[in-house]
Amino acid sequence: MYRVELDRVACDGIFACLVRDERFVEDETGLATVDPEAEGVVSVDRTDDRVVATFDGDVDDATLAASACPPGAITVREAEE
Ligand code: SF4
Repeated sequence: MYRVELDRVACDGIFACLVRDERFVEDETGLATVDPEAEGVVSVDRTDDRVVATFDGDVDDATLAASACPPGAITVREAEE
């Protein structure tokens, strides 16, 4: 399991993440969020400033999305059990 954090204050809607991991989606405000219905998404907690999600299984795409994000708004790390 992996904890994926998206800093929506840093996010500027470039959407490099969306093309690398389909679990990231654009929300109604034009910023990135995580689709709670997407495959591999266990949970999503969202506020105006931050999205904290738990991903299961392969996180290679999420890691690619994080490294492609110009402002570094996405962090991916192994979740503590
Ligand atoms: S790549 Fe980064 S800045 Fe662009 S939409 Fe995704 S999280 Fe936001």
